[in-house]
Amino acid sequence: MNYYGTQVTALIEELKRLPGIGPKSAQRLAFHIISMPQEHVDHLAHTLVEAREKIRYCKYCCTITDSEVCPICSSQKRDHSTIMVVEHTQDLAAYEKTGQYNGVYHVLQGTLVPSLGKGPDQIRFKELMDRIEHADQDRPVKEIILATNSSLDGEATAMYITKVLKPTGIKITRIASGVPIGGELEYIDEVTLSRALDRRIEL
Ligand code: ZN
Repeated sequence: MNYYGTQVTALIEELKRLPGIGPKSAQRLAFHIISMPQEHVDHLAHTLVEAREKIRYCKYCCTITDSEVCPICSSQKRDHSTIMVVEHTQDLAAYEKTGQYNGVYHVLQGTLVPSLGKGPDQIRFKELMDRIEHADQDRPVKEIILATNSSLDGEATAMYITKVLKPTGIKITRIASGVPIGGELEYIDEVTLSRALDRRIEL
């Protein structure tokens, strides 16, 4: 039964597709948007379209950014010899909030999912290998910190990377437990994250 008319129903349906938005929230948001002044709605729509259009991935670390090289990779104040490997840009943001990490990152944009046959060519792994292989002679990579989630897929990804990188002789570390099993990194508080980083173990 279509109580609201086609346009409102279409708006509710679109909003329902967003993560964490159930039917009730979608309805509330839809009616809020409809009641907003026209210029606010225009601005919201424009911001959405522009964000989507301008999104790109840093050519070094593959994080989501709006320039060719992200601010962290372009910073001379960061230690470019230490690379922390994370799953998503949100994980990078979580570590940045701790203020305790001065190295750079590599964002895989996902994990291996062995149960679904999702392999290394479906994440930004080749880019990590390229970075290591083509690092400046005077600025070699000295440590890779594996900070993928402690979920099954996160662990499988860490194991795979360890296996491939071990022969390079680069020091490989894994963030300590303390990050709860199956915990999503972006939801874990900053103290726990800092501690997990401090107590990382060499593999
Ligand atoms: Zn970058």
